[in-house]
Amino acid sequence: MLGPVAGGGPAFDDDHPPAKELIADCVHCGFCLPTCPTYVLWGAEADSPRGRIHLMNQGVNGEPLTDSMVEHYDTCLGCMSCVTACPSGVKYDRLIEDTRAQVERRHPRTPKEKALRGAIFALFPYPRRLRLLRGPLRAYQATGLQRLITRSGLLERLAPTLATLDSLAPRLRTVPRPPQRVPARGPRRAVVGMLTGCVQSAFFPDVNSATVRVLAAEGCDVLIPPSQGCCGALSVHNGRKAEAQRFARKLIDTFEQTGMDYFVVNAAGCGSSLKEYDTLLADDPAYASRAAAFTAKVRDLAELLHTLGPVAERHPLDLTVAYHDACHLAHAQGIRTQPRSLLRDIPGLTLREIADPELCCGSAGIWNVLNPEPAAELGARKAANVLSTGASLLVTANPGCLMQIAAAAQRQGGRIALAHTAQVLDAAIRNLGPEALLNAR
Ligand code: SF4
Ligand code: SF4
Repeated sequence: MLGPVAGGGPAFDDDHPPAKELIADCVHCGFCLPTCPTYVLWGAEADSPRGRIHLMNQGVNGEPLTDSMVEHYDTCLGCMSCVTACPSGVKYDRLIEDTRAQVERRHPRTPKEKALRGAIFALFPYPRRLRLLRGPLRAYQATGLQRLITRSGLLERLAPTLATLDSLAPRLRTVPRPPQRVPARGPRRAVVGMLTGCVQSAFFPDVNSATVRVLAAEGCDVLIPPSQGCCGALSVHNGRKAEAQRFARKLIDTFEQTGMDYFVVNAAGCGSSLKEYDTLLADDPAYASRAAAFTAKVRDLAELLHTLGPVAERHPLDLTVAYHDACHLAHAQGIRTQPRSLLRDIPGLTLREIADPELCCGSAGIWNVLNPEPAAELGARKAANVLSTGASLLVTANPGCLMQIAAAAQRQGGRIALAHTAQVLDAAIRNLGPEALLNAR
């Protein structure tokens, strides 16, 4: 295998370069362009799906991996809106994932980039390390220091990346960690393993608690081994393939002997990468078939609940809700109707659609941390569209989207409560009334 290249030598080595036959599927029609957030922002061909595929083609034909090429790959949000829009079925998701793995192995990053990425990947995929941040973060929020620093605008001027992290931090509450096994209420319909996630478990533990309660109310035994770690989504979406494979193997080891019928995920970004474990570990003889068996059991929460059908009574929630399609749920997993149908089935709930639903909110894993300014622009567009629905509650199924849209709405002085689909279902099943959701955050 070749070592890192800086400007010289062919862009890609022979370890899974973007596939020529997939590149050839692109007929350059441009239907994907208006749905691509970076093309919408900057209007440059090289920052469109078609332009990036063209650059990949140059790379497989022996052109070197230049800084400019890498920049255009780096600025892709991986939102997969182009996959939905493409009439020719171009597998851009496969192409960009293989390209990113090549870039991470072969392109030397600047010391600043290395330091930032190193810090992110030493922290975000480790729930225990993230949980250690909760105490200091709570103190920072409770003492009013956060309000003071935000108002001064100092952080934004000096360190936009830190300012982004600061604005994204949700308000923290203490929620007891779920037990290892929660029995079904009433007759058991399925045994499900549940991913607690990294950001989800550290910053949105109430979403996990709601997920467990809803699953149990719908007749599922829920298995939640505390030894589970990261699923590897952030790593794989950022080209850190070997790291993602390590996380995937550990998660398979943790869950495969539990006797689960399904593996349930309540975070869209995690779900989309878990559904690709079979590809991620295809070259590993010890794990390839186990990964395929695991992948076959992965379900998004809304997907599973929709398949099972409701047994728990839904009490009325007199609420107007805007539902936001997380990109990795809608574009990467094709899950759009199931969460909407679950929400519409709640008596009293009115569902509103958000304009330009295909355009990413700018969160995209860690994209908003690496690219704070354009992410803020995308967040502002999304927040404006969300606020103009007149809904009092925004519902979505990804922690990154919740933080990104909440921060953008706050900057616009808009007031909207936020919830995960699981929390809305939980409130309806437990008859908590709309206030439980409107006053939650
Ligand atoms: S994944 Fe999203 S940002 Fe990347 S090229 Fe496709 S539409 Fe554009
Ligand atoms: S990716 Fe698809 S939609 Fe975009 S230019 Fe190529 S063929 Fe057309």
